[in-house]
Amino acid sequence: MRTVEEHLSAILGALTPLPPLDLSLLEAQGGVLAEPVVAPVPLPPFDNSAMDGYAVVASDLVSAPVTLPVIGDVMAGDQGVMAIRPGLCCRIMTGAPMPGGADAVVPVEWTDHGTVSVWIDRPAPAGNYVRLAGEDVRAGQTVLPEGTFLGATQLGMAAAVGRSRLLVRPKPRVVVLATGNELREPGTTLSPGQIWDSNSFMLTAAVIEAGGVGYRQAIVSDDAEHVLETIEDQLGRADVIITTGGVSMGARDIVKEVLSDRVTFTPVAMRPGRPQGFGLLSGGIPIFTLPGNPVSAYISFQVFVRPALRALQGLPPAPLDSVTAALTQPVSSPDGIRQYLRGALSYGADGYSVTPASAQGSHQMGSLSSSNVLISVPSAATQLSAGSRVEVLRLPS
Ligand code: AMP
Ligand code: MG
Repeated sequence: MRTVEEHLSAILGALTPLPPLDLSLLEAQGGVLAEPVVAPVPLPPFDNSAMDGYAVVASDLVSAPVTLPVIGDVMAGDQGVMAIRPGLCCRIMTGAPMPGGADAVVPVEWTDHGTVSVWIDRPAPAGNYVRLAGEDVRAGQTVLPEGTFLGATQLGMAAAVGRSRLLVRPKPRVVVLATGNELREPGTTLSPGQIWDSNSFMLTAAVIEAGGVGYRQAIVSDDAEHVLETIEDQLGRADVIITTGGVSMGARDIVKEVLSDRVTFTPVAMRPGRPQGFGLLSGGIPIFTLPGNPVSAYISFQVFVRPALRALQGLPPAPLDSVTAALTQPVSSPDGIRQYLRGALSYGADGYSVTPASAQGSHQMGSLSSSNVLISVPSAATQLSAGSRVEVLRLPS
């Protein structure tokens, strides 16, 4: 039986990062840069005003209050043809280019707002409220290194240096399919023995939370041909395929049967989530065959699939964020098995504490949806007393 770490490293070892695509800025959101972004010009590109006010020669103001004639206006977008000389000033708006000869800006709040001449109540040092060319970014500076995750601020940075397209490793496209003859679409009426499919909705949403593009595929019956055809059909739009169900020891464990040549099915020393499968389909598309029980499927996703999705984008395959917390009650755990317990993390005067959910069955969605963490109980721990400090993994919220 593999440990969690062994199974994860087997998965990561088989993955190759997605090939980069040339995408427009907003298509690139959530992608990872596959090139450095270099500023072709300084930012700001020209000296400009940081305030609405008056562009002045600072030495004119040493004996302020003073009154100066106003020779014109410069607005943001003006082409920088205005100039003043000592004894004169002009009105200037935020972002407007500094007029030739001016070396300071007096904000409008320090004046009588005059348009023909202006009374200025105090002196200003040279450079006052002037944004100098290049004080943000130098020409030739790498503003976003290769490997940067592209969120809102990074896209803003790329646009600010004039880029309309970027070379990025895109969000992985993940097709989720649930297998099981007992499964029906939510919103339909159940016959005896049937249940509504929850895994495919939960995992498609989890893919999106993990930074991928999730495609939910309709329910697949426990039929060899149906399973294979559906997987074949999906290969065209998938960077990753996830299945749930059909991988344990039952008489109808069809996923295991039809994929046994391409997928390594292996028990992993974890609870829940013991039966795991991973392999590469044609074209090198990774497939994860997760267990059918919803809690097992979800925890398997967080422990194995999430880091893999990051690796496909060339990001470090980091686990869920964790904190250390004190158990509010004792916990027992099987020897040699890493146990993930659902729990509620809270923060108080004594720091973080965590209370395990009372229901820990792998079919019990009720306690999963009301938990905000997974308590990671090391495989060697069998009894943990109240007050023991444990690692808890925060579930995406
Ligand atoms: P299996 O691994 O296919 O034997 O499924 C294990 C258990 O998980 C069974 O009780 C299934 O009914 C349940 N199960 C499998 N797939 C789903 C699903 N998509 N949604 C909810 N429960 C499921
Ligand atoms: Mg099944």
